[in-house]
Amino acid sequence: MEGQRGNYGRITSMALDPIEKKPIARFHPGTTVLSVGSYGCTMDCPFCQNALIARAGADDVPWREIAPDELVAQALELKDRRCIGIAYTYNEPLLGWRYVRDTGRLAHEAGLVNALVSNGMASPHVLEEVAPLIDAANIDLKCFTEEGYRSLGGDLNVVKRTIETLANLDTCHVEVTTLVVPGLSDDPGQISAMSQWLASLNPDIPYHLTRYFPRHRMRDVPATSVPLLFELAGIARAHLNDVLVGNV
Ligand code: SF4
Repeated sequence: MEGQRGNYGRITSMALDPIEKKPIARFHPGTTVLSVGSYGCTMDCPFCQNALIARAGADDVPWREIAPDELVAQALELKDRRCIGIAYTYNEPLLGWRYVRDTGRLAHEAGLVNALVSNGMASPHVLEEVAPLIDAANIDLKCFTEEGYRSLGGDLNVVKRTIETLANLDTCHVEVTTLVVPGLSDDPGQISAMSQWLASLNPDIPYHLTRYFPRHRMRDVPATSVPLLFELAGIARAHLNDVLVGNV
């Protein structure tokens, strides 16, 4: 993935969010991050919870251009509101990885942190450029079969490599999220396999199991059952020390 030069610095969404909302639960809890997103995504999930911007192009959504130095300056101005840095989020930030890289460098120079919320579909080249700049990340692990990933336009092995690369960096705090989608990722065997694999990297990786709600092309599929979500969390806890249930 070489990125989409076309969305460089084109910001569709911006908010000062608690870092826990990303969700990044175990990295400076109680602080906030200036969260920004553009448009576009490298995958095409039928349940996309952010389809209005993730499935959009330049002509479909309002955006305004914010240069990296301007964004860093805005984050610094929010220090009195417990802002510790910038989160690249909402759509798929690595589609516009050059903006993450350029802003991330300036943010570090200014003493700010960089947080990444990504689907993990990054080429080795992009990872090499961006990973050293990321202080905290939440990467989606959407399911644990190649077939499942293919149906979403992604690649399981690429996502595993991203998670593994970030988890092996001393400089990066990593959390992982699985949105539990009926028929895709609500199978106990799959959750067990994902948890075992994550535990093989680090059993302390915070693992979020979040509840799906009907969206986008899956409006007719009901939300994840809450008892099932807690059952799956119990299965994950057999392997991982820090399993969090979200969106309930
Ligand atoms: S990876 Fe995330 S933003 Fe992209 S289509 Fe899937 S759910 Fe939407």
